[in-house]
Amino acid sequence: MRPIFQPRLVNGPFGDPALFVDILFERRALIFDLGDVAALPPRKLLRTTHVFVSHTHMDHFVGFDRLLRICLGRGRPLSLYGPERFIEQVEHKLSAFTWNLVENYAVDIELAAHEVTADGWLRRASFNSRERFARQDHAPVPMDDGRLVAEPAFDVRCTVLDHKTPCLAFAVQEAMHVNVWRNRLAELEVEPGPWLRDAKQAVVAGAPDETIVVARAIGGTGERPIPLGTLRSRALQVVPGQKLAYVTDVAYHAGNTQRIVALAEKTDVLFIECTFLDADADDARRKYHLTARQAGAIAHEAGVGVLVPFHFSPRYAGREAELRAEAQAAFGGIVA
Ligand SMILES: [Zn+2]
Ligand SMILES: [Zn+2]
Repeated sequence: MRPIFQPRLVNGPFGDPALFVDILFERRALIFDLGDVAALPPRKLLRTTHVFVSHTHMDHFVGFDRLLRICLGRGRPLSLYGPERFIEQVEHKLSAFTWNLVENYAVDIELAAHEVTADGWLRRASFNSRERFARQDHAPVPMDDGRLVAEPAFDVRCTVLDHKTPCLAFAVQEAMHVNVWRNRLAELEVEPGPWLRDAKQAVVAGAPDETIVVARAIGGTGERPIPLGTLRSRALQVVPGQKLAYVTDVAYHAGNTQRIVALAEKTDVLFIECTFLDADADDARRKYHLTARQAGAIAHEAGVGVLVPFHFSPRYAGREAELRAEAQAAFGGIVA
């Protein structure tokens, strides 16, 4: 199976947190945390549709300006999510610039900012370049099970954690994954093409077997209608979707651990901070961070597939292997 989410830590494990998640075949991407994103080329930043900010300590939010700079004038809305006070902070970021000529851009950009409250509501406001980014408030909506985004192909959920300030952790779950047996397509006398993406979406959306899919006949010899049910039973395989989780900047205590385990349960890939070695657990406690051992233990409890450690303290430069080894020992699974 080829996973649809292609995640990459923009700055490696020691740099500012930013996880860029490209979505295969969709020409778009998600970003988890906006640390320094200068290493991302503009064509990638331009693909971003949703940004999820765990909290607004500077190392997680300093990339906001760069992202906005690249996306100004692109004509595609950008949705941002963060913890309490996030909308006000986006507003302050925007008011740090002068927008008297922004209407000269050929197209506008709208920023939709969302903040998660402790009692499960999503507050909302938008900022449009046409109105010089003046804030427009919208009625808050209740969240269903921490769900921030619900699309046919995937959803994104969050949980509120404690970092001596509210800090969000996120999980992105593909609805289901449709594999294609290419050799069996040939048996049906059709070949891959853009139609296949539509057919997969119809399967994910639960369309009935009688739905007619207009496939491309083999050898590019025209169109060939086939019932979706035939395609599904002969050439497609439906498997559970891929799940990623992103957890950083959290204190190690039972309340946080329970919430992380519930959110990240059975995640294929868990990105989790391993900021300190356990020998420095006192520093971790004072700074409301995890040690590599604590992160590994949480990943073990959540039954995740692969642990990707990051947000290493610069004090461990050259000692990356020790942090990984400590996370691995507590986790017992694959540390990437
Ligand atoms: Zn941090
Ligand atoms: Zn922090």
